[in-house]
Amino acid sequence: MKKNEFTFLKNLQGKILFGQDLKNYTWLGVGGKAEIMFFPKDEKDLSLFFKNKPADLPYFILGGGSNLLIRDGGIKGVVIKLNTPYFKQFNCKNDELTCFAGLPNANLKKILPDYELGGLEFLASIPGTIGGLVKTNAGCFSKSLSDVLLKACIMDSAGRTKEITPDEFHFSYRSSTFDKDWIILALTLKGQKSTKEEIIKTLDEQALYRKTHQVVGQKTAGSLFKNPQGHRAWELIKNAGCDTLTVGDAKLSEKHCNFMVNNGHAKAKDLETLGNQIVRRVKDKTGITLEWEVERVGLEK
Ligand SMILES: Cc1cc2nc3c(=O)[nH]c(=O)nc-3n(C[C@H](O)[C@H](O)[C@H](O)COP(=O)(O)OP(=O)(O)OC[C@H]3O[C@@H](n4cnc5c(N)ncnc54)[C@H](O)[C@@H]3O)c2cc1C
Repeated sequence: MKKNEFTFLKNLQGKILFGQDLKNYTWLGVGGKAEIMFFPKDEKDLSLFFKNKPADLPYFILGGGSNLLIRDGGIKGVVIKLNTPYFKQFNCKNDELTCFAGLPNANLKKILPDYELGGLEFLASIPGTIGGLVKTNAGCFSKSLSDVLLKACIMDSAGRTKEITPDEFHFSYRSSTFDKDWIILALTLKGQKSTKEEIIKTLDEQALYRKTHQVVGQKTAGSLFKNPQGHRAWELIKNAGCDTLTVGDAKLSEKHCNFMVNNGHAKAKDLETLGNQIVRRVKDKTGITLEWEVERVGLEK
């Protein structure tokens, strides 16, 4: 690390760690090392980081690591994780819920019944954090983030905060487009008044559906590929005979073949190679190019 990089890190209040194994921060359980990891204490600390950061020092925002395939060479520069208590705050007013970016979505399982706020149950079953919902316009049970988002608060890489309206994210199916340097600080979501019993019933039904139809308790990152218009990715994978393909410990789930699984000690390289093989085979068989839903980041080893 260069001397000026070290000096500016010393002035921050949040925890700084060097050489952390990123496999401990991802659901797939793969990833090389993070050169530097920074856990900002609060918004002011994060802003100070950006105001003093050497321009050529790269950074990456890590949420819950549930949609990431981090390559075996790890991530250069600073991995920022917003998981201190400050970034897990929330505030409920009438039918609006503001959640800070580091709040785990799973916390909504308690917050929603406590505040008798319905309509947002689907988000509670998506692994990861509030900030991580934006990139892929995450959704399930026929709803997406864009259906319930009222506004967002972001920080740019100059350390300035501003409020953003949903149209500025250009949302579409499992996708959004926004400035690369925006860091989501908080989202305000619109729910609807409901009863504790109704909310718990919906949460239970959704949890049961996931348990029955999807992959639970294994190292995975959820849907591997987006559904191409008019098709289901899992059907294309199965029809191309890819559902039983393996590369090392990388395989597809027997329960749902659009879920990739690390069956033990797979490397990121194994998982990515398997995904790329599937893309090629499905393309050869159907002419359709599957698009990765899982995001691949970091350096190859
Ligand atoms: C078992 C399982 C089931 C899943 N089911 C679903 C599902 O039903 N629907 C669905 O849509 N997805 C699903 N997923 C995928 C994943 O949970 C979602 O994409 C989730 O929203 C990712 O959030 P995260 O916090 O884990 O983000 P990460 O995986 O850590 O990051 C994803 C992206 O978001 C960016 N990011 C994270 N936080 C911020 C921030 N504060 N500011 C700016 N950028 C940020 C990261 O840089 C990265 O580009 C599933 C995953 C698993 C493992």
